[in-house]
This record gives sequence, structure tokens and C-alpha cells, in this order.
Amino acid sequence: MEILYKSTRGNNETVPASAAILKGLSEDGGLFVPTQIPALDTDIETLSGMSYQEVAYTVMSKFLTDFTEDELKDCIARAYDKKFDTEVIAPLAKSDGAYYLELFHGSTIAFKDMALSILPYLLTTSAKKNHAENEIVILTATSGDTGKAAMAGFADVPGTKIIVFYPKDGVSPIQEKQMVTQKGKNTYVVSIRGNFDDAQTGVKNIFNDKNMTEELDGAGFQFSSANSINIGRLVPQIVYYVYAYATLYGNGEIEKDEKINVVVPTGNFGNILAAFYAKNMGLPIDKLICASNDNKVLFDFFRTGTYDKNREFILTTSPSMDILISSNLERLIFRLAGNDAKKNQEFMDSLKEEGKYTITGEMLEELKDFYGNYASEKETAETIKRIYEDTGYVIDTHTAVAAAVYEKYKEETKDGKKTVIASTASPYKFTRSVMEAIDEKYASMGDFELVDELSKISNTPVPNAIEEIRTAPVLHNTTVEVEEMPKIVKKILGI
Ligand SMILES: *Cc1c(COP(=O)(O)O)cnc(C)c1O
Repeated sequence: MEILYKSTRGNNETVPASAAILKGLSEDGGLFVPTQIPALDTDIETLSGMSYQEVAYTVMSKFLTDFTEDELKDCIARAYDKKFDTEVIAPLAKSDGAYYLELFHGSTIAFKDMALSILPYLLTTSAKKNHAENEIVILTATSGDTGKAAMAGFADVPGTKIIVFYPKDGVSPIQEKQMVTQKGKNTYVVSIRGNFDDAQTGVKNIFNDKNMTEELDGAGFQFSSANSINIGRLVPQIVYYVYAYATLYGNGEIEKDEKINVVVPTGNFGNILAAFYAKNMGLPIDKLICASNDNKVLFDFFRTGTYDKNREFILTTSPSMDILISSNLERLIFRLAGNDAKKNQEFMDSLKEEGKYTITGEMLEELKDFYGNYASEKETAETIKRIYEDTGYVIDTHTAVAAAVYEKYKEETKDGKKTVIASTASPYKFTRSVMEAIDEKYASMGDFELVDELSKISNTPVPNAIEEIRTAPVLHNTTVEVEEMPKIVKKILGI
């Protein structure tokens, strides 16, 4: 069955997957969505006998129907290889009454690697299929993890350049060090004086600037996106939910067709949307538990039906979730609005003009697959400490937001279903916050001293990604104002 993609704001024009991946964002400013969600028709016995790569092919081939078998298998083989420090790619760790799906075993030790290690191959394959002659310029806004993972994926990939914008004071010390030490002739990192939403809006504005697009085209370039607005990010993320379910079944932890819950620490709503797509493919998922930090726009939205970004932007210890405009929510809104682009456009216009919108009661009713809650800074730190003390397992701040919200969910609902918690980053990426949560005595130690302490108390080796940056030289040090983003892009491209 062929799957085509259309814009959440467009007429009903459709494009094949490769064109949607290449464009990133639709010309009308909307996001590409599949015209239908394909069914997962492989039985669980077969799935549970498959490697990660095989599950990836099974799932992705249903969505990327204009890729040949060879093309897709080649992309998968290049992506999920020795860059990951475990053969299973996404292991499940049973701890504290839940299953932690560890999505941080790739080269930059956060879950962004799951999609960004394959996106460069999907994108260059898409360019070939569409006879795109221009050099592809990836523009990306990052709250810390996407930028590094995207650069690691695109570094020295022929026919591409990548420019990453991050909020100067909005990322962890290790995240910043990872980015500014990035090698590769085609990688550029720029910090902005603003927050993540400013960076993301700035990038979207550049994408939607027709004059700039024309200028670029004249100079032999075209933009694409590595943010989760690109459907090429979303599809690979569906894979690990299917893989996790198959692993649970293979390990005898669940019965055939047994429903599980999934908890996702959420920022841009990409990861949890992938879980929602997995559920819609037929994977037996019951509740999609959406965990927010103090920037709890989504919690309020699930409760009231009003999405309101007019509030203080709070810097937390889970910076990759410090987001007030969850871009991928638009894909869900479009769906709840009955795939009505005009209705969706009205909500998005209202978001742009007034910073908020309210969905209808009918749409709110449709949201019952989701449960939203949030964890404060204190609750997050306490959860890290408690789980470490009870079990010896050390989780990062983002995962801790999810674990804390799961506790609230259980208490509120008494739902005892088996539950998978998406563990989105290695504790080594947020060492300072993690260690200070465990014991105040760590506050006086240096960043890399803390890394060694973490290794001791968790009995885990220091990941390569951290070893690498201990001594790496800083290669990028440009900071600009938000308004200067288009100018710096032109400067980098020499136009
Ligand atoms: C990006 C990120 C998130 C949020 O994921 P979304 O897909 O944006 O909702 C959560 N945790 C970590 C560690 C991340 O890097």
C-alpha cells in the first residue's frame, strides 16, 4: 500500500515520502503527515525474533513506500551500526517497577541519535530520488541534544552542510561542550541570545522566507530540516516502541496482545507522537503518558483544551524539554480536527497571533489516549535520588521527569499495567544535575570529576561521547542576536 504525505495546512496535494523528507517543512508552513497510518501486520512471534535493524525495516518500509528495499536497508545498516555501544541498539532495563527503554546508546548519548543517525541517509537518498541538484543545507534549532546528534550524523556527509542554533544560556555545560567541539568541514554552530523557542521560530522564519529561498537556489543551495518537524525524524522513532513491545514479549514479560502504557518525557511532542503512531498501527499501547517539566503547557492543554504559551519560560535541569511551542502537536491537532487543514490553520494562526488556542469539546474528548502531568524541579531531583538509593540505577533529569509523572499517574489511577518509560538521555549528559540530586556534597566538584564519580557510583563505564570532549578543542564560538539569524546563515554560505 502506497503512503503519501500532505501538509497540515495545505490543500489536499500529496507528495511521496522522499519529497516530504527532502523539504522538511511544507511550503505553506505546515507539517507533513501521512494520509493514513499503515497497519502493523507482522505477528508478535516474528517481531520478537527480529534484530533492531529488522524491526526498523518492517516498520519504516510501511511508511517510506517510495524507497526501494535496497535503499532503505542500506540506510538502516549505515545508521544502526557500531556507533551504538550495544548490539540491541535500544535495551530495556527493568527497574523500580517499570521498564526503562534506554534510547541513549548512540554517539551523542541522547535519544535524538535514534532518528538522527539515519536521517542523513534518508535525506541524501531522497535527494537522489528527486534529482535534487542543489547542496542541502540543514538548518536546526536545538535545545541541546538535537544539534549535536544532527551534526554527528551529517558531519562530512557529501552534498550537505549543517548549521545549528542553540540558546546561549539554555543548555547544559556538557551539551555546550559537545557542540562547540564538533568536527567536520560542513558543520557550523551558532549560539543566540534568546531561548529555544526564539531559535526554533527564527529557523521557521528563515524556511518560510521566499526571497531567501530564491537567493539560496541561485547560489546552488536548498534548505532542509533535521528538527522533528521532518517526517524523516518521526518515522524512525516509531521503530523503538515496536521493538520494546517485541522485547517484552520475547522475554516473557507480557502476554500476546497485552496492553502496556508508555511514558514519554516531552518537549516538542515528537517522541510521544511516534508512540501515538505506533499505537495507531495496532501496537497494543493503552495510555500515552505525557510528562512535562515546569514548562507545563502540555499538561494544562490536556486538562483544559487550551494551549497557551503566554507564560514565563522556565530554565530547568531538563533543558531539552524547556519548550513552550511543541511543534509536533500540530500533527495531532490536525488529526483531532478531522484532518481539516483549514481548521488547523485557524488554531495555528491564533497561536501565532495571540499565543494560544482552544480546541473544541469534541476534539478534547478524542484526547483520551493521552494522560498529561508534570514534575517540578524538586520532584525530579527527589526521583533521581530515590531510584538510585532504592535500586542503584541512575537516570538522567529528563527520564526522571517521566518517572516522577509515572508515580503520579499510578497514584491517581491505580492502573497496574506494565509500563515502558522512554529513557531519553544518559545520566552522563546531565552529570551535574544528576549528581547534585543524589548528594549535595557533589556541588563543589568540577564537571569531569563528577563524570568519574558517576561512573563509580553507578558502576557503568564513562561513555565514549564524554571521553572525547574532555580534551577536545573548541572549534565554534559565534554568538548572535535572534534578528541576526538570517544574516549569519548567508555569511556562512558566502551569499
Ligand atoms: C529532545 C529531548 C526530549 C523531548 O523530546 P520531544 O520529541 O521533543 O518531545 C526529552 N529528553 C531528551 C533528553 C531530549 O533530548
